Amino acid sequence: MVGPTSTGLRALSDAHSAHNYHPLPVVIAEAEGAWATDVEGRRYLDLLAAYSAINFGHRHPRLIAAAQRQLGRVTLVSRAFDHDQFGPFCAELAALAGMEMVLPMNTGAEAVETAIKTARKWGYEVKGVPADQAVIVAFEGNFHGRTTTIVSFSTDEQARASYGPYTPGFRVVPYGDLSALAAAMNQRVTGVLIEPIQGEAGVIVPPPGYLAGVRELCTSHGALMIADEIQSGLGRTGTTFACQHEGVQPDMYLLGKALGGGIMPVSAVVSSREILGVFRPGQHGSTFGGNPLACAIGREVIAMLSTGEFQERSAILGAHLHERLSALPRHAVREVRGRGLWAGVEFASLSGREVCERLAARGVLAKDTHGTTIRLAPPLIIAEHDLDWALDQLEEAIR
Ligand SMILES: *Cc1c(COP(=O)(O)O)cnc(C)c1O
Repeated sequence: MVGPTSTGLRALSDAHSAHNYHPLPVVIAEAEGAWATDVEGRRYLDLLAAYSAINFGHRHPRLIAAAQRQLGRVTLVSRAFDHDQFGPFCAELAALAGMEMVLPMNTGAEAVETAIKTARKWGYEVKGVPADQAVIVAFEGNFHGRTTTIVSFSTDEQARASYGPYTPGFRVVPYGDLSALAAAMNQRVTGVLIEPIQGEAGVIVPPPGYLAGVRELCTSHGALMIADEIQSGLGRTGTTFACQHEGVQPDMYLLGKALGGGIMPVSAVVSSREILGVFRPGQHGSTFGGNPLACAIGREVIAMLSTGEFQERSAILGAHLHERLSALPRHAVREVRGRGLWAGVEFASLSGREVCERLAARGVLAKDTHGTTIRLAPPLIIAEHDLDWALDQLEEAIR
């Protein structure tokens, strides 16, 4: 019997899945390391790595082994009971982040929602903001997830339109502009929610000194600095956290994506005892948050990051990536941005979608964003010669 074809499978998803995505015409059947194979056996080098959820490559042997060990023990107990992976996971993740406490969730959006609740509750109970008056500052171009509250402060019309009524209590200021943030700060501001590098917006790196300035403004106004490192964290930029490039320690780290090892959704809020200490039993939770399988995989991710080898690889290969991208023909490329193994390439006239389609035809997977930009976030384990081959394909594709 002949197996299903890409065309047949795409017709099925076209007919029976909601069209909330517009995937490239590639149907993946298998993957290992930095490479994926489609149902016809064509191979693709994955330069997107599921928006950094696959930082360690597809099916990293250490992560698969950790998952398999745990599958043979216990996978889910709910938080009604403790289990032997939970305490160690929380302690090890807190230590990796130089923090004290962890509140585990599943998806990134849930970690963001948890941070919003934390900042409000902390604002009322610790800072002394009058009831229902808390304000959280976010930034133009932000991406923090897809819940109704999170899209309430999105500035992306596609992400936001038709989902009102919107949640109040947010103020949005331009990204990268310290005086705009300073002007928005007051006693009612309990949190500043920031991506240290804006991923979805096209890998926007703020000006030098900006994150340190945000830290200072938060400290002087008694607001929590909430760093959404769901995409930028865990090695992507050449350090464990992107905030470290400016020596900044936020009050809360939001982690997700790579924390699940490319196997399952695992997210967390990581913070101090003073801040996460605001929660009492029954005030917040998640059936699957902190489950044994998630914790076992997360612990292996943390162990892999604790040696620094992946971060170093990201820094070294990232420098090489940016050197090659900056040598692309000037007439074709308007701007190259990024840090470590993470880049946004903005084209002068080509659409990002067109470039991604040409790349896919050449065996390279990448993702467009905002019209003329493509995002590159190869797995941190990518071989240098594979990366070079993919960049050769990019050169040819935009010729
Ligand atoms: C992906 C992402 C999220 C949302 O994560 P989900 O797991 O898709 O809910 C939030 N913040 C940032 C910065 C992200 O990149």
